[in-house]
Amino acid sequence: MMQDAHGSSMVKRRVSYFYDPDVGNYHYGQGHPMKPHRVRMTHNLIVNYGLFRKMDCFRPKLISAAQMTRFHTDDYINFLRLITPDNMADYVRQLQRFNVGEDCPVFDGLFEFCQIYASGSIGGAIRLNENLADIAINWAGGLHHAKKTEASGFCYVNDCVLGILELLKNHQRVLYIDIDIHHGDGVEEAFYTSNRVMTCSFHKFGEYFPGTGDVKDKGYDQGNGYAINVPLHDGMDDETYRTIFRPVIAKIMERFQPGAVVLQCGADSLSGDRLGCFKLSIKGHGDCVDYVKSFNLPTLVVGGGGYTLRNVPRCWTYETSVLLDTPIKDTIPYNDYFDYYGPEYRLILPVSNMENKNSPQYIEDIKQQVFHILDGLEAVPGAQIHTGQIGTTQIPTTSLDQFVTAQKTNKGVRDDEQENNDDNLENEHNDEYNDERKDEMDVN
Ligand SMILES: [Zn+2]
Repeated sequence: MMQDAHGSSMVKRRVSYFYDPDVGNYHYGQGHPMKPHRVRMTHNLIVNYGLFRKMDCFRPKLISAAQMTRFHTDDYINFLRLITPDNMADYVRQLQRFNVGEDCPVFDGLFEFCQIYASGSIGGAIRLNENLADIAINWAGGLHHAKKTEASGFCYVNDCVLGILELLKNHQRVLYIDIDIHHGDGVEEAFYTSNRVMTCSFHKFGEYFPGTGDVKDKGYDQGNGYAINVPLHDGMDDETYRTIFRPVIAKIMERFQPGAVVLQCGADSLSGDRLGCFKLSIKGHGDCVDYVKSFNLPTLVVGGGGYTLRNVPRCWTYETSVLLDTPIKDTIPYNDYFDYYGPEYRLILPVSNMENKNSPQYIEDIKQQVFHILDGLEAVPGAQIHTGQIGTTQIPTTSLDQFVTAQKTNKGVRDDEQENNDDNLENEHNDEYNDERKDEMDVN
């Protein structure tokens, strides 16, 4: 029997996959780097590689606006529901207040788009909670920048936070891991004072969006030590990434012992990304997925950034094959978007030759700082579990004074009781849809 990195046997996991065929129809606007079409391309490649029939496939049941307010404010969600390109001239002040209009534009069907991508993550978390899956995938999700009361960085509703809140109904501790090139600020902020959620983000830091994610920012109050940041420089390559990702995750698993994991797989950390500056290969990116999987915990896998259109489907399809323990060939099979993959028509592409500005000493230093934080934690968070205080901060704490101010102005914290009163989602196992997709796959 094959052994994985931990020496545990490679057991096939039960994988649930969430995809809504409408997702590719939404457009952020001409020239905008975020293209929901990449999720449709990914799906089509997954189907044509034959991976689709190895998973339980679902079209997510759409969540309600009320379910979004488990994290977001009522005001903000109401605004997302009502704003359209036609009426936005009447809402200038609110557009500013909620940071909607430029990076996060108003477009036709904005609210439905948010529902679709958030529903896949919540649906996946429910499948895991019901123990009907070991792994749930929602490539449309991973919009990690959205804040409690504002849009940010192409993200409106934070499906990562909503997925974690769902998992917290069933698990005492949830680990969030983020390999997008940008700091996972929205998720970190949501759980900054909680010891039930550890967030761990690996990202480019220094004159780069969103500007947060210093190694010294490690959580506050009950959450002190439960936000882990690994700030990195340009040109991060596979080998260097592995020398920090694996030890940090191993140590977190040992110290925190999560019951479930949410893994954000933003593909903008790949070499050649339109907005990124790392040089990970698809194999290097996928190695992180493989490593997290080796811990054999219930895991929700979501997408995220990724702005070079031909890279993203390659990456997420490869990672789907990793999660399924099903190797796939390097030759891209014929699919609806075949032309995008030329001239190579291969899954794995070479990386650029940019310089790696992360020296071994720098990586070692950051690793030691992170280890120091983790060593300071109580081995496993004990009896007094802190459940309230979700989505409390406006400003991640580079300055304590700012943080305290943000805490004082906080309102609308919801308790678990209210969450439990929300309607439970049921995800239809859409057989008709599966059959249709299988036909499509057989034709090709
Ligand atoms: Zn990103």
